[in-house]
Amino acid sequence: MEKSDKESKTAAEFPRDLQQIIEFHGHICPGLAIGYRAAKIAQAHLGIERAEDEELVAIAETDGCGIDAIQVVLSCTLGKGNLIYWDHGKQVYTVFDRKRGYGIRVAMKPGRFHRTPEQDAILQKVMSGNASEDEMKTFQKFQNQRVDEILAEDENTLFKIEKVSSKPPAKARIFKSVTCEFCGESVMEPRARIRDGKIACIPCSENYSRGW
Ligand SMILES: [Zn+2]
Ligand SMILES: [Zn+2]
Repeated sequence: MEKSDKESKTAAEFPRDLQQIIEFHGHICPGLAIGYRAAKIAQAHLGIERAEDEELVAIAETDGCGIDAIQVVLSCTLGKGNLIYWDHGKQVYTVFDRKRGYGIRVAMKPGRFHRTPEQDAILQKVMSGNASEDEMKTFQKFQNQRVDEILAEDENTLFKIEKVSSKPPAKARIFKSVTCEFCGESVMEPRARIRDGKIACIPCSENYSRGW
């Protein structure tokens, strides 16, 4: 993309914490803006900034761009074990405070952002890699407008926000390792399989085929 596009904000015009997320994620996009708003809402409702260890645990029901904002803002990360991903394809984030024993569920409301048929057509072209330079510019302008709208929108218009009293997911545990007898690599015990009476990691056990 050309940097001369005056329609788009420069990174420095965004709030500082959003700048950090953009740096981590690589670009600004509507999905990232949604994750950012959701993370800030969870922070405000729980009265806790970020997780040093596992005092916060987040469940993301999408693996879209927004999950990166959750990681940076709340320090709920995959590596620390306090980010759980459910493959539901929904822009829903639930953040639990283990000490207080409850969580905040932030769910994107439907129908707020619709693409016009023209915008949809351009999106398809961009996704397939066939967009012209002009179409790319139009697309980027539209994306930037949407980011601005998401950042400015009232939280209750954008999201359904609820307190949830269900138990937070269990803390991450450390398990013993065993050695896969097929590839020789180490695998944590609860993920090990048995193949032909031998310990196998998941990829090795799935490579097993009955065809001959
Ligand atoms: Zn993105
Ligand atoms: Zn293996």
